[in-house]
Amino acid sequence: MTGGTGSRVARLVRVTGVVQGVGFRPFVHRIATRYALGGSVHNEGGDVVVHVEGAPEAIASFVAALRRDAPPLARVEAIADTAAPLRDVRAFTITASGDAVQERLPVAPDVVTCDACCAELFDAADRRYRYPFITCTDCGPRYTVIDALPYDRARTSLRSFPQCAACSAEYAAPGHRRFHSESNACRDCGPRVWAADVRDGRASELTGDPIDRAAETIRASGVLALRGLGGFHLVCDATNDRAVRMLRERKQREYKPLAVMVRSVDEVRQFAAPTHAEVALLESRERPIVLLARRADGTLAPSVAPGLARIGVMLAYTPTHHLLLAACDRPLVMTSGNLSDEPIAAGNDEGVARLAALADRFLLHDREIVARIDDSVMRVAAGAPLMMRRARGFAPLPMSLPTPLARPVLAVGAHLKHTFALGAGSTAYVSPHIGDLDTVETLEHFRAVRARFEALFRVTPAAVVCDRHAGYLSTQEAEQCGVPMLARVQHHHAHIAAVLGEHGERGPVIGVAFDGTGAGDDGTVWGGEYLVADARGYERAAHLVPAPLPGGDVAVRRPWRVAMGYGALDATLAGLVSARLGDVAEVERRVVSQQLAARVNAPLASSMGRLFDAAAALMGVRLVQYYEGQAAMEVEALADGGRDLALPLPIIERDDRLLLDPVPLLCALAELARDGRDPHDLAASFHASVVDATCRVVERLAEAHGTHIAVLAGGCFQNARLLAGCADGLSARGLRVLMPRVLPPNDGAISYGQLVVAAAQ
Ligand code: ZN
Ligand code: ZN
Ligand code: FE
Repeated sequence: MTGGTGSRVARLVRVTGVVQGVGFRPFVHRIATRYALGGSVHNEGGDVVVHVEGAPEAIASFVAALRRDAPPLARVEAIADTAAPLRDVRAFTITASGDAVQERLPVAPDVVTCDACCAELFDAADRRYRYPFITCTDCGPRYTVIDALPYDRARTSLRSFPQCAACSAEYAAPGHRRFHSESNACRDCGPRVWAADVRDGRASELTGDPIDRAAETIRASGVLALRGLGGFHLVCDATNDRAVRMLRERKQREYKPLAVMVRSVDEVRQFAAPTHAEVALLESRERPIVLLARRADGTLAPSVAPGLARIGVMLAYTPTHHLLLAACDRPLVMTSGNLSDEPIAAGNDEGVARLAALADRFLLHDREIVARIDDSVMRVAAGAPLMMRRARGFAPLPMSLPTPLARPVLAVGAHLKHTFALGAGSTAYVSPHIGDLDTVETLEHFRAVRARFEALFRVTPAAVVCDRHAGYLSTQEAEQCGVPMLARVQHHHAHIAAVLGEHGERGPVIGVAFDGTGAGDDGTVWGGEYLVADARGYERAAHLVPAPLPGGDVAVRRPWRVAMGYGALDATLAGLVSARLGDVAEVERRVVSQQLAARVNAPLASSMGRLFDAAAALMGVRLVQYYEGQAAMEVEALADGGRDLALPLPIIERDDRLLLDPVPLLCALAELARDGRDPHDLAASFHASVVDATCRVVERLAEAHGTHIAVLAGGCFQNARLLAGCADGLSARGLRVLMPRVLPPNDGAISYGQLVVAAAQ
C-alpha cells in the first residue's frame, strides 16, 4: 500500500492537571492502541506528554478520548497539541520520565483500595490473597510515598523493593490493571507487615499471622498501635467501653470524640443514621471521617464520643484495615497515634518510642512513610459536604488563586488547626492539617512539611505573609525565616478572602466571620465580625458588642468565666449570671470579679465562639470545657427538635457601625433556664436569634454598600445549624451566599486566605 505514510501525521500532546500517579500513562497507551496509533508517552514535570502518529481523524478521536475517558483519579485541566516531526513509529510505548521543570507540579493524594484489589485480597486463589500492600493503577499510596516528581517507582519509597518476575510481567503488560502501576508489589517482592510486642523500648517480632496477632490484642480489650498509610493509629474495640476508656486515659484525651472505622455502610447503620448525602461522602474515594447522627440504641461504647449526638465514622481505606476489621469483626476506634496534640507518629522506631506506653501491641511495616498525614474530617451541612480537617485524600491537590502572585509567596497561616500555603503564579499548594502550633513537635512538623513542599513543588518563596497576631508561633516563624515580609493579614479578613478565593470571586462582599478569637486591628480580640470586604481590604461594618474576657486564653476553657465577662456589661445580667454559677467555687468567682473590676488581664472580645460558650454556661450545658468548641457543639446538638421562642438580639447603631447587643439574649436565656424551660427550646432559640440578627445586619449592609453577595466564614460555621440557618435566611433575602467547601471554615483556611490577600495587594 502506498500513500499509507503520506496520510500519517505526528502531534505532540501535552496534558496538564492531576495526571501523574493516577494511571494516566497506561490509559494513554490503551487508547493509543485502540486507535492504532504509534508513538510514546512520558511524564514531564507534572504533565503527561504524548508523541502520537497516525491518521489525523484517529488522532482527533484519541485527543477527545483523553479528556472524555480519563481514569477516575485524574483531573485533566488542559490538553494542548502541536504539530511534531514524523518519526514513522508504529508501536506505542511508555518511556522513562523527562526532567523538564514545570511551574505546576501536582501530586496525587493517596487513594482508597479499589474494589478489584479488595476482591483479590479475599480470594484464596489469588496470589495476593491477604497481602496488605495490594494496589493497582487505580488505588494505593501516592502522597505518602512520593519523594519527588515526576511520579515513578524510583522516586517513591517502593524503590527499595525491586519487583519479582510475576510483578514485572504485570507492570509491563499493556491492558493489565497493574500496567505501569508504580506501587506494584506482592508477598514475594514487596513490603511486609509484622506484629511486635515492645519490652524495655525494644520491639520483638511475634510468630504467627501478624493480622491475627493484632486482632488478638483488640479482642482482649487491648490497644493496638497500627502503622498505616500516613502514620500510626491507636486502635481498640469500639464496642468495649473499658478498652475505649483505657485508650483515652493513656492518650490523655478525656473527652474529644474518637473516630470509628468499619467496613461497610451496613455496619455503620448499626450505630449511626447516615443520610444519602452522608453515605455518598463515606463511600467517596477520599474516605474521610464523616460526622454522623448517632443512634441511641447503637452498639458503640458510650465513651467513644461522650455527650455528643454525632460521631465520626470512616470506612476502611487500606488493605490492612480490611484484613484487621475482618479478623476482629466489630467496629474499631481508630485515632491518631500520638499523645494529645502532638503530630501523628510515622516511622517504626519513632512509633515504638512514642507509643510504647500507650499500646499493648504493634502492627508494623517496612514501607517508608515519606510524608505523614492525618485523616480528613467532613460533615454534610447546608446541603453539601463541608470540610472540617483537610488532609488525606485531598492534600496536596493544588488550588487556584483568583489573582496571580508576582513572585512566590509562603503564607504561614494561623495558630490552631494550622496549615501553611505556598503560592506561585495562580497556584496555591495548601498543606494538609498540621495541628495546633503550640508544641515544639508541631513546629518541627510544620518546618518539615514546608521543606518537603518547597522541594516537591519547586517553589522557593521570595516573600512571606502572616497573621497580625504577634504571639502566634507561625508569625514568629515568618519573622525569623529570612524571607522579606510582604503583609500581615488581619485574621478575619483572611477567613473571608479564603472563601472568595475558593469561589473565584473578587468582591466586594458582606463577609461574616464568626470564630473563637483573632487579633483585631484596634487592639481588641475579634471574632463576631461583619466586614465589607474584597480580597484587597476591608471595613469593619458591624460586630458583636465586645465584652471583657477574664483571664484571656484561660477563659477559652472556662465558659463560666466568659459568662461573668458579659455580666460586666450589665448589672441585671451580672445578677442572673451569678445565680447560674452556683457550681463554681466561691474563691474562683471572686478572683474573676476582681479581674473584671480592675480590668486586669481581661481583654475585650467581640467573639461569636465565646458568646456560644457564655450561652452554654447560662443554659447549664457546660461550665468547663476540655477542648475548644466542646460547649458550642453541645449547644448545637441540644437544639435538635427545639422550638424558637424568638429571643431578642437587638442591633444598635453607633459611630456608623452596627452593633449586636447580646445582653438581652443572655438575660433571657438565664431567666428561662432558671425557670426550668426545656433546654432544647433554649438552644434552638439561641441559634435562631443569632441567625436572624445576622441576616438583618447583612441585608442592611448589602443595601448600603450595593452588593448582593454574602460570605460565611470562621470556625463557628462548622455548626451546621448556624451555617444552614444563615445561608437559607440570606438566600431568602435575595443574596448570593458563598461558604467554604474545599477548605474548612476554621483556621485551616487562613493560610490560603493570606495568599489570596497577598496576591490581590
Ligand atoms: Zn486497586
Ligand atoms: Zn512481586
Ligand atoms: Fe479564626
